[in-house]
Amino acid sequence: GRRLLIAGNWKMNGLRASSQALARAIVEGAKALPASVELAVFPPFTLTAEIGALLTDSPVRLGAQDCRSEKSGAFTGDIAAPMLADLGVTHVILGHSERRRYHDETDQIISAKAEAALEAGLVPVLCIGETAEERDSGRAYETLSNQIARGVPAGFRGVIAYEPVWAIGTGRTASSDDIAQTTAHIRDSLAAHLQTGDNLPPILYGGSVTARDAASILAIETVGGVLVGGASLKADSFLAIAQGA
Ligand code: 13P
Repeated sequence: GRRLLIAGNWKMNGLRASSQALARAIVEGAKALPASVELAVFPPFTLTAEIGALLTDSPVRLGAQDCRSEKSGAFTGDIAAPMLADLGVTHVILGHSERRRYHDETDQIISAKAEAALEAGLVPVLCIGETAEERDSGRAYETLSNQIARGVPAGFRGVIAYEPVWAIGTGRTASSDDIAQTTAHIRDSLAAHLQTGDNLPPILYGGSVTARDAASILAIETVGGVLVGGASLKADSFLAIAQGA
């Protein structure tokens, strides 16, 4: 069957002790999951190395929440993709709507970051998603197609995360019908853009995912997993989502 990725974006949450406990509980719970279900956690940069140490010898993947497009240089406060790879990071979230909003990231910047991540051997988890205003005015598909055309570089080998902005942190999960239709549109848009035939990036859904709706979302044929924010901060709820896979 399909492989499913259950990814936990911890965002700007967690100090050392509680985060270590969370990672330990996830590693323990992962043992009961089928091999077709892959878990990944995305701690803040301050915890990358020590959470990575806890994940050694476990199937749980280590992710990061951003990287810069240059390999090194005078970019105070930024983190380069090879620095992440050096710590055992395998996945990096790029273009999250919170970075687009609070750091003015454009599709062009995100595309350059994705190229840097690929060059460093990382799997980019490239986020796209429409706002409520775009959806309500009938421009959701157009927005998503534009984000793909401008933000996904040629030769992209990674993961796309569909995260409608209006569903993030709001408790308003998109309906299964909406997710099915929109991810089918995204798949078609990726196929037209990348020209790689059937070899298309998996598409995750993100936005207020909880254990309650995870199983029905993960059953959708065009969904390759979920990107979980709030519910990934508790081992029980994160593992319950994975058990729905
Ligand atoms: P929530 O699950 O908290 O809505 O966050 C989703 C998200 O932004 C994951 O990247």
